Amino acid sequence: MNNDHDLVKIAAFFQPMDAYLLKTRLEAAGITCFVFDDLTVSANNYLSNAVGGVKVYVSEKDAAEALEIINVEPEEESVCLNCGSKNLRFRRTPIWVHLGSLIVFRLPFLLKGTWECEDCGDSW
Ligand SMILES: [Zn+2]
Repeated sequence: MNNDHDLVKIAAFFQPMDAYLLKTRLEAAGITCFVFDDLTVSANNYLSNAVGGVKVYVSEKDAAEALEIINVEPEEESVCLNCGSKNLRFRRTPIWVHLGSLIVFRLPFLLKGTWECEDCGDSW
């Protein structure tokens, strides 16, 4: 027997932080939601799979709107802070930097890379 106050699971995550991020997005849209098993998984991460992950529930009447919010990716468009150009290129840090830092410092520098503006040459 279903009514508007029944809760339905709309998402499950391995880490509580991901569930809280979704909760924040849903609550910003005015949807009340509940996170379950976050404390269990926080106490012992290895239990996440055993309990089915950290689950996010909403009321059945809000489920369709919540699923729409989940499926909308936040728009992320990078622009050059110097000239405002969208003509950007990402240069990965070469593997020898990681290996060199591992050999010299016994710690790998986990640098992903730098963005370069094709128009003005600025990098960050
Ligand atoms: Zn630029």
